[in-house]
Amino acid sequence: VVDVAGLQKSFGDNHVLRGIDFTVDRGTVTVILGPSGSGKTTILRSLNALDIPDAGVIRVGEQTIDFGGTYSKSDVTKYRAQSAMVFQNYNLFPHKTVLENVIEGPVTVQRRTKADAIAEADRLLSSVGLAEKRDQYPHQLSGGQQQRVGIVRAVALHPQVLLFDEPTSALDPELVGDVLKVLKGLAEESWTMVVVTHEIRFAQEVADQVLFVDGGVIVERGGPDEVIAHPAQERTRQFLRRIL
Ligand code: ATP
Repeated sequence: VVDVAGLQKSFGDNHVLRGIDFTVDRGTVTVILGPSGSGKTTILRSLNALDIPDAGVIRVGEQTIDFGGTYSKSDVTKYRAQSAMVFQNYNLFPHKTVLENVIEGPVTVQRRTKADAIAEADRLLSSVGLAEKRDQYPHQLSGGQQQRVGIVRAVALHPQVLLFDEPTSALDPELVGDVLKVLKGLAEESWTMVVVTHEIRFAQEVADQVLFVDGGVIVERGGPDEVIAHPAQERTRQFLRRIL
């Protein structure tokens, strides 16, 4: 579903991504680990064209762009529509209700009927225990509830891949579990997911592939039994010692 080759990105003279290559198979979960500032978020944002890479050929779902070559605005729009992002700070529309947040994309971007979008939103909100919050505003919800709305909003777009940028790191510790449970449920439903997180236990239980990123390159990759339980690289071991 996702194919990344030669991804490079600089911000000014800060060369953040220095040649990133990886593949994500359909129905699998990829967890990206790495120290602060290593470029994890930039990888994710490149998959959603929130950051535009300087070079690299990236396929997401049915759209491929060679960022080092020529491509049009409409190519980027189509590419972006292949994925949906869940943000660290939820990024819900503050002046829209929970329901309005969820149906906004399906109705205005995907031109689905409002009745259809509402029916699905209600179904999805129930599945994450938020049926009774549908007419409330984001500020009336806890962080964990807001993040579950953020996840439902992404799922309602039926993207080829769901992108999660540290989805639990802004949450109080007691709210983290509920959100991770929702992520696990999505993995069990065979959604294709790329997750930037520091939740090592989650990575161990749910990831099919773990990428350890440091200094703008993938230092180590493999299943969680390799990268987390038996890391081959000293840099990976050091990182894990610090966060475990
Ligand atoms: P963290 O775990 O702290 O979120 P990260 O691994 O996700 O870190 P990124 O957010 O990808 O790292 O950032 C990598 C580097 O790129 C950092 O040095 C950051 O300051 C820089 N950077 C990211 N976005 C921008 C931007 N829009 N403008 C300038 N520099 C940026």
